[in-house]
Amino acid sequence: MTRSLTILGATGSIGRSTADVVLAHPDAFRVEAVVGGRDALALAEVARRLGASFAALADERGGEALRQALSGTGIESGAGQAAVLEAAEREADIVLAAISGTAGLAPTHGALKSAKRIALANKESLVCAGDAFMADARRLNVEITPVDSEHNALEHALAAGLNRDVEKAVITASGGPFRTWSREQIAKASAKEASAHPVWSMGSKINIDSATLMNKGLELIEAHHLFGLGAERLDVLVHPEAIVHGLVQWTDGAVTAGLALPDMKVPIANALQGEGRLGMELPRLDLAAIGRLSFERPDEGRFPCLSLAKAALRAGGAMPTVLNAANEIAVEAYMAEAIGFYDISEIVERVCSTFSGRRISTLATVAEALALDQEVRATARRLIPAPVEAAQVR
Ligand code: NAD
Ligand code: MG
Repeated sequence: MTRSLTILGATGSIGRSTADVVLAHPDAFRVEAVVGGRDALALAEVARRLGASFAALADERGGEALRQALSGTGIESGAGQAAVLEAAEREADIVLAAISGTAGLAPTHGALKSAKRIALANKESLVCAGDAFMADARRLNVEITPVDSEHNALEHALAAGLNRDVEKAVITASGGPFRTWSREQIAKASAKEASAHPVWSMGSKINIDSATLMNKGLELIEAHHLFGLGAERLDVLVHPEAIVHGLVQWTDGAVTAGLALPDMKVPIANALQGEGRLGMELPRLDLAAIGRLSFERPDEGRFPCLSLAKAALRAGGAMPTVLNAANEIAVEAYMAEAIGFYDISEIVERVCSTFSGRRISTLATVAEALALDQEVRATARRLIPAPVEAAQVR
């Protein structure tokens, strides 16, 4: 059976891996639409490779280049936020949501209108507006299947038992590039060093989040929304080999774990397939060749973002929205070399405490979450030192 598929974030790391999975199964999928951010030529290329019906670029300025690059192919195109929403809302069996950051929320939410299933990579959607997003998904009867490797593993481990018998669900972290660095070394780390992930090859924002361990914190919040588990039943374990992705400990002490080689094509194929497995000719896990797997507790002293995210999860309500927005601004500033590594957690902490003093009602809709997101961004931006003006440098 051929299913129609739309890929949001088709030019990114997850998007490209998704294209590889789709091309390995040309009869299983028909690509309806592809969405990209700024790179018109890269989007045109993936649209051609996949034979998409429609391509939408977020950056309006690239619209003409996209149209020209697709001329003669019969592939329709559009540019700007309206075109992105149009692509997301087109009739499709599956929408794979892999835009990075909170920019992915509006299109992913829009996709709930006409998709049967969302294969979700864009964790920020759930961190920013999890309660409202999941409520809308339930109301519209849209299934959400996780692409994030830890959640994909947890989904299968959880299926081995009953939710009430889960004592603890654990997601693993490779530990990122600074796992063995001292606090003093980390404090001086450049964005380039933070981007050198030891295991995964990913987009720039999630790379920095992996170095701070904020990614794992966002994933705890993501797991809470996907699986209905409270903070007290969620935990993180550092596992540098990144073979075991998620573990469920049951009330009798038994543990069910999900393992795979660290290749995003594995969870992507599974999330696209939904039920059952989509066969993939990928290298197989050879535990004897690996020999040893190691585990350690995360060090929240060197990686304070993880404890900030845990606190936001425990606080609930609008706090994860605040944490997520502050983090995006701080990560952008760090990548632009405007702040140092530990300023990321410093800024997130200051913004969270500013907003925790205010009574913010629960966010009943995605629109309310996005409005708060904007307000938090403005507050966070005020904490970023202004770039040194050329005139002052002299
Ligand atoms: P990436 O930066 O490589 O790709 C992001 C994609 O989104 C690109 O196609 C980009 O053009 C597009 N995009 C950016 N801004 C946009 C906008 N405003 N409108 C429309 N499109 C826009 O990122 P990635 O590593 O592929 O990650 C994507 C998402 O998947 C993130 O939420 C990330 O946390 C999640 N994720 C990634 C991995 C991984 O291994 N890369 C693993 C798990 C989860
Ligand atoms: Mg992950």
